[in-house]
Amino acid sequence: MDYLKGLNEPQLEAVTTLEGPLMVLAGAGSGKTRVLTMRIAHLITNLVDPFHILALTFTNKAAKEMKERVAKVVGQSEARNLWMGTFHSVFARILRSEAHYIGFPSNFTIYDSQDSLNVMKKVIKELNIDADQYKAKKVLSRISQYKNNLITVKAYFNNPELLENDERANQKHIGAIYQKYVETCFKNGAMDFDDLLLRTNELLTRFPEVLAKYQDRFRYILVDEYQDTNHSQYLIVKALASKFENICVVGDDAQSIYSFRGANIYNILNFKKDYPDAVTVALEQNYRSTQNIVNAANVVIGKNLQQFKKNVFSENEVGEKIKVYRSLSDADEAAFVASNIWQLHNSEQMNFDDFAILYRTNSQTRAFEDALRKKNIPYRVYGGLSFYQRKEVKDLVAYLRLLVNPNDSEALFRIINLPTRGIGDSTQNKLIVFADAHNIPVSEVLNNLGQFAPNLQLNNGIITKLADFWAMIKAFQVMLKEENAYTVAMEVAKRSGLIKNLKEDQTPEGISRVENIQELMNSMQGFIDEQIQVEDGDPSLSNFLENIALSADTQKDKKDDDSPKVSLMTIHLSKGLEFPVVHLVGLEENLFPSFMSSSTREELEEERRLFYVALTRAEKRAYFSYAISRFQWGKITDAEPSRFLSEVDSEYLELINPAIESRFVNHSGLKSNIFDEAPSETRFFKKKEPKKSLNRDEPQIIPKNLKPVSTAKIINPSGSSSQDIEVGDRV
Ligand code: ATP
Ligand code: MG
Repeated sequence: MDYLKGLNEPQLEAVTTLEGPLMVLAGAGSGKTRVLTMRIAHLITNLVDPFHILALTFTNKAAKEMKERVAKVVGQSEARNLWMGTFHSVFARILRSEAHYIGFPSNFTIYDSQDSLNVMKKVIKELNIDADQYKAKKVLSRISQYKNNLITVKAYFNNPELLENDERANQKHIGAIYQKYVETCFKNGAMDFDDLLLRTNELLTRFPEVLAKYQDRFRYILVDEYQDTNHSQYLIVKALASKFENICVVGDDAQSIYSFRGANIYNILNFKKDYPDAVTVALEQNYRSTQNIVNAANVVIGKNLQQFKKNVFSENEVGEKIKVYRSLSDADEAAFVASNIWQLHNSEQMNFDDFAILYRTNSQTRAFEDALRKKNIPYRVYGGLSFYQRKEVKDLVAYLRLLVNPNDSEALFRIINLPTRGIGDSTQNKLIVFADAHNIPVSEVLNNLGQFAPNLQLNNGIITKLADFWAMIKAFQVMLKEENAYTVAMEVAKRSGLIKNLKEDQTPEGISRVENIQELMNSMQGFIDEQIQVEDGDPSLSNFLENIALSADTQKDKKDDDSPKVSLMTIHLSKGLEFPVVHLVGLEENLFPSFMSSSTREELEEERRLFYVALTRAEKRAYFSYAISRFQWGKITDAEPSRFLSEVDSEYLELINPAIESRFVNHSGLKSNIFDEAPSETRFFKKKEPKKSLNRDEPQIIPKNLKPVSTAKIINPSGSSSQDIEVGDRV
């Protein structure tokens, strides 16, 4: 068993303990993911049927990589039958088979965040609620918190505390909006991302026979990045594992960075309480990074009070110090990063995919893209507007969604007049009002136009247009029963007039839109080919649509080739990954730590964990940079170095533009707090409070005034308190 040879002792223990609950709580780069992967291989080698193994990862990409690694050990055919994926993708698949239990069609649509936002905007409008006071994005994130804590609409209205909270925050209509939003999704036969978890919980709690079926199926459950599971995910795993209790979770409380999405650090900290017999394994050796990087990261995370004390060390080379670059502006910072990459690429023959540029918010991307382009350095931006979210792609996808699920009125109204066919807003409104009044889906009205026409108050010309449109959709649906998804999609693109419409625009942007449609078709063909090759593959259109809805967040651009490129991403997206060289940029107060998240100790500690995640992605070299002025929110803003810089002991740092820096440094040497001393010219400017960013990439963190919802009660229903966390050393 060669694959066991490369493991250290505690890793081996974790890999070979096959039965019973097991937790690996360990620092970054210590091999948690590797242990999980090898454990799956070991299970299969020990004759556990892959059919009985469920592995949950944080991203689709991680699942794919893990499967490939397992396949290398046990062979393709064995690995194929593993259930491996994100919570969302695995449970979407289960929900499809069991949808009838909870009143959904098996071809339900999955709304991505953009769809949910559109629906929410419409709901707020239909309820005649002030859209300025109730910002759709904020309301959605509030509702998301409720869903992830299993607070259904009914539970919401039964809980006076929640109602009072929202009233106090001047948001008394949240309940009504929540109700209407849920009703709309249900009527459309659609689930948003949070529903995939909420409805799975509903399924498993209300129907014991379904629970028993999946408990029996998933006899071995493994979860990576367990520290970032939310309450909803926690309950699913707990329910499924409760029969065999063969559950293995790995994680690192110091890397819990998704609390704004409801992640609950107590899930990992209370594992021992849930499973008193659990074996716990600690991994202490970091194999990823140099000693300098590991030690620097340890010092910073050591400043968090809320943490499980851990020992993390590296026996790799000591390595270079972390280089710190102070720049005059954001453009200057980006130019430095690009030249540095260029230089290392040339002088040390490093590939472009050895480099990552990590930042706190997506809005920082542009400056780096510009600088890299100037130097002709190939790069790939992760997590921006995904390919599948482009307008023209979404348009064609909306047609396809409608074929699969005619009740999906979000899709219907996106394309009913696209390309323009004379079915304008007022007609659409009449359809909606009529359908609502009769409590039927709009598709029902269109199915029975002859019968309803006299009451629709539309003229004959419009009725004919509606009839023609619907006849076209019906014809596509019939075709879908006989032809494969690709053929139908091609037909839709042509016959709907979408392609013709796009082709009329001969500007480079217009041409690129047509190419994007072509690319969508290619990706569909690729998907079909892939599905046909696997045993239980499903090449159907509905599976394709599910796939793209769930991969939208991390999917790279479909037009992207696989040649080595510099990776640009937010720190949140970099979790679990590693790169020989990491540039951690924008290390400024109010940017990182973020202005939105530095007012309470808890928020600041989460920002510090983010910093820890970022730094521990680096294998050989890490670069920190910050600018003293930055173009932000439409104007130049002065900036101060991030407090995290001063939290790294100076013995791990080296300033690389001393010519500028020496003027500000205390000449007694590089003290750990050199960054606290504001350079004279920054002191000269009076610090202005930056305005709230409008284009933040992360979902809104619940504003302070909405916060009184007691985290102890909701986020942490198991009733644990911070006393359960060991208090780390304070430096
Ligand atoms: P993170 O907390 O960032 O998710 P992790 O604990 O999951 O990190 P891995 O990604 O599994 O760590 O491992 C980090 C790196 O160390 C990988 O490149 C992995 O191949 C390597 N590694 C892990 N264990 C060993 C080992 N025993 N010998 C050699 N290399 C190892
Ligand atoms: Mg990992």
